Amino acid sequence: MKCPDCGVELSQGKRDGVEMEICSSCKGMWLTRQEMSQLEDEVFDFGDDEKGSLMLGSTPTTRKCPQCAKPLRRFEYRFYDLQIDYCEDLHGYWLEANEDKRVLELMKKEEKNLGRKVLAEDRFAAHLHYLQSGSLADRVRDLLSKAIDPKPKPR
Ligand SMILES: [Zn+2]
Ligand SMILES: [Zn+2]
Repeated sequence: MKCPDCGVELSQGKRDGVEMEICSSCKGMWLTRQEMSQLEDEVFDFGDDEKGSLMLGSTPTTRKCPQCAKPLRRFEYRFYDLQIDYCEDLHGYWLEANEDKRVLELMKKEEKNLGRKVLAEDRFAAHLHYLQSGSLADRVRDLLSKAIDPKPKPR
């Protein structure tokens, strides 16, 4: 598979404790969809974030899916304004270089402020695993099949 930005062949790597395809040139990250066997509950506790709507709609991009070459769409994952591009056929998700670092920084601040017992690194890894899991993929599919302007679910 090739990088949607620079066309360089992606190589298998591990970042933030998660297996992914990484571009050696721009350091972008491609997360392929995976079925997760299990996740540890204490790390995977998103509280209200998880229960509410995770996405704030999506917009088209000029990037193409490394797997099927369809244009990727971008959505905002309602967690630290993380912007992620994804393939409509759910082949995977594209994260720009340093997007993970930015989010980790935010999480670390929060960790300090709230004295959270779960480490930012673990939480971020859990989010990435969640992205790769079938359950978010289903939500993405849901979002696509529904309205153009998805409303946040009532609490
Ligand atoms: Zn690249
Ligand atoms: Zn695709």
